Amino acid sequence: GEHIDLAVINRAKDDKVKLVQLQFTDINGSVKAVTIPIEKFPESLEKGLWFDGSSIEGFTRICESDMFLKPDAGTYALLPWETVAVTARLFCDVYMPDGSPFEGDPRYILKRAIKNARDMNFEYNVGPELEFFLFKPKNDGAVAPTPHDVGSYFDFSPRDLAGNVRADIIFTLEKMGINVEMSHHEVAPGQHEIDFKYAEALRTAENALTFKQVVKSIAHKHDLYATFMPKPIFGICGSGMHCHQSLFDIRTNTNIFFDENDTYKLSRNAKHFIAGQLEHVRAMSAILSPTVNSYKRLVPGYEAPVYICWGQKNRSALIRVPRYSPGREQATRAELRCPDPSNNPYLALAVMLEAGLDGIKRKLELPKATEENVYEFNKDELAYRNIATLPGSLGEALHELKQSALMKRALGSHTYQIYLHSKFSEWDEYRIQVTEWEQKKYLETT
Ligand code: GLU
Ligand code: MG
Ligand code: MG
Repeated sequence: GEHIDLAVINRAKDDKVKLVQLQFTDINGSVKAVTIPIEKFPESLEKGLWFDGSSIEGFTRICESDMFLKPDAGTYALLPWETVAVTARLFCDVYMPDGSPFEGDPRYILKRAIKNARDMNFEYNVGPELEFFLFKPKNDGAVAPTPHDVGSYFDFSPRDLAGNVRADIIFTLEKMGINVEMSHHEVAPGQHEIDFKYAEALRTAENALTFKQVVKSIAHKHDLYATFMPKPIFGICGSGMHCHQSLFDIRTNTNIFFDENDTYKLSRNAKHFIAGQLEHVRAMSAILSPTVNSYKRLVPGYEAPVYICWGQKNRSALIRVPRYSPGREQATRAELRCPDPSNNPYLALAVMLEAGLDGIKRKLELPKATEENVYEFNKDELAYRNIATLPGSLGEALHELKQSALMKRALGSHTYQIYLHSKFSEWDEYRIQVTEWEQKKYLETT
């Protein structure tokens, strides 16, 4: 509304903002931005800002390249690492020339899923856990996966050299309005995790986008580089983006996942929601774990999921329901562990929500919990328990996506087609590579 726009204009004045970055994402989740001088800001809020969308991945349409951006005043934040001029950023909606929302805009796709949930009186809350690596640049400035330290899980100095970098990241996130809950060194050398407070899904998607920008910028300031590549190094843990999810009733603002009388303290709708995600996880895998490299993380032995099951204590399960403790009713949640931070968070949360809602609408039955370490099950045990696996490659995941009517509906046919096309060509490009592993294995033995 107009008064929100006025408030944000005044805020920018108080902050002495000189430049404004209008941000949006392509289908891959890369943040794109148009920067305008502060004088143009009021007009952009009122009328939008025209730009050429034809070269943005996932936006291409043969005859329509003129689109416009409308900044969302509620997403205003300063970019503390910009030193040349005081710079603010806002996330934007993308519109077509006729003023209708662009159906390929990932932000629009998430907003549509959120609207579907609201029509059922649900608010979708998500708390993500983004893991990442800090690497040293090589002498010539090129990037190489050389871990920045030799610290390990929850270590503190002197082995955890990154304590200062993490502190700087946390401080910057707080300045940008993101509430950090905790941070620690992760299992692998150079690997870290910083968790921020859960929020409604649109806010969380944008917090995740901001988080990645902050981590990369602050790492750079410390002469390091940060990567969210899911599995940068063979033989050690990869980086996940576990998502803790719950539904709140918008009328009472209470968590509808909680039921006091259930063994797991889960309501019927919570169970249907989880069942929906288990049913659709193979189909949504290409969105949640979207790169060739994602599937090198989803292998046994590194606390990343492989088998499609749920449990309470089990870190090898796909969905973990953290154990209930008294007073924590509102914190009842389901942790989906397959997403990784290379995904587009708008699209990821949209398909996760639609999969869960489908489970609720169809009252899907939740299979029995699996509490054993599934990595140790053999084929017979898996078959006996009827436990399927996640796709083993991007190619397999794309074939699943291609068969899913729900995913087509959740993404909209424009994005669905373009995504399949773009990712199949990424897969094909990879498929024809000849790797060092193959040369080592076959050059002399064949
Ligand atoms: N790094 C692990 C993963 O790839 C997760 C470790 C943890 O449980 O935090 O998902
Ligand atoms: Mg972790
Ligand atoms: Mg976790």
